[in-house]
Amino acid sequence: MLKTGRWARKWDSCRECHATTTPHYAKGYCTRCYMRLYKRDQRRNQRTAYTASQAHVP
Ligand SMILES: [Zn+2]
Repeated sequence: MLKTGRWARKWDSCRECHATTTPHYAKGYCTRCYMRLYKRDQRRNQRTAYTASQAHVP
């Protein structure tokens, strides 16, 4: 357990599933939720990067 007794420094539980049994990973999300959100963001970012690169083609 953390010294503060909290799940994460800024969070009492996962922002997504409110679990405290799953370890905190990053940004207030547990490992499972962060991985799920990360995959979703990655897909969105790839699409944005693709559109941006297309815009710079002369
Ligand atoms: Zn979670």
